[in-house]
Amino acid sequence: MGKVIAVANQKGGVGKTTTCVNLAASLAATKRRVLLIDLDPQGNATMGSGIDKYEVENTAYELLVEEKAFADVVCRDTNGKYDLIAGNGDVTAAEIKLMEFFAREIRLRNALAPIKDDYDFIFIDCPPSLNMLTVNAMSAADSVLVPMQCEYYALEGLTALMDTISKLGAMVNPGLHIEGILRTMYDPRNRLSNDVSDQLKQHFGEKVYRTVIPRNVRLAEAPSFGAPAMYYDKSSAGAKAYLALAGEIIRRAEQLTQAEQV
Ligand code: ADP
Ligand code: MG
Repeated sequence: MGKVIAVANQKGGVGKTTTCVNLAASLAATKRRVLLIDLDPQGNATMGSGIDKYEVENTAYELLVEEKAFADVVCRDTNGKYDLIAGNGDVTAAEIKLMEFFAREIRLRNALAPIKDDYDFIFIDCPPSLNMLTVNAMSAADSVLVPMQCEYYALEGLTALMDTISKLGAMVNPGLHIEGILRTMYDPRNRLSNDVSDQLKQHFGEKVYRTVIPRNVRLAEAPSFGAPAMYYDKSSAGAKAYLALAGEIIRRAEQLTQAEQV
C-alpha cells in the first residue's frame, strides 16, 4: 500500500528539499515506485529533479485548482527514475485560489486517492510556512518526516512543529503521525550539534533516525546539475547517507507490516 510522507519543517533551509530529492532517487534505486510532489512555489525539488520549472506545462496548480487528471499532470525526473508533480510560482496562485473552495483542506488528499496505491512511497516537499498548501500536505499524508539541523533553537522550533502537527491532525487527519526526525547537515566535530543531538534522542527516542546526513558539498552542488547526488557523485558521503536512510525507512515500514500481521 502506498505510503504518503509529508516532508515538513516551518523553518527554511533545513534540508527538506534535499531530503525529498535524494530520498526519492535512493528509494527508486531500490526498485520502489516513488512519486515526489513539489508543493513549494520556489520549485527547488522540480529543478533538483532536472525539470525546468519555467518550462514545465503542468504543476501542482493544475492538480489542485483545475482538477486536471493526475495522469496529465505527472512527469518524470530527468533520469527517468521517479514520478514528479512539479512546482513553480503558479503554486502560490494555487494557495490563494484554494481559499475559494469548499473542503479546501483536502484537495490534495482527494487528488491522490485514485493513484495512491500505484506507488510505494509518495513524498510531499512542503513550503517553509504553515499555509493552505502545507495543510493540504498534512491532510493527504500518513505521516510527517521532519528534517532538522542540530542548532541552538532547533528543539524549540521542533516543539512548536509537533504542536502544529497534532492540532492539524485532530482537525483534518486523525491518523497523522511523525514518521521520523532526520538530523541534516550534521557536523560531528561541533560540540553544540552533539549536545542538541543527544537531547533530541532523549525527547523523541526511536523517532530519531539512526542515519545522520552529514554536511556534504556534493549535496549542495547536485541541484545545479539538475540531479540527485547519487547520479552526480555516487561515492559522496551525502549520496551514501541518503541511500542508508532509504534502507532505514524500508526496514521500518517492513517491521510495521510484520507487526500488523501478528
Ligand atoms: P529547505 O528545503 O528546507 O529550504 P534545502 O534542502 O533547500 O532546504 O537546503 C538548504 C540549502 O542547504 C541548499 O542550498 C542545499 O543545497 C544545502 N544543503 C542541504 N543539505 C545539505 C547537506 N547535508 N550538506 C550541505 N549542504 C546541504
Ligand atoms: Mg525547500
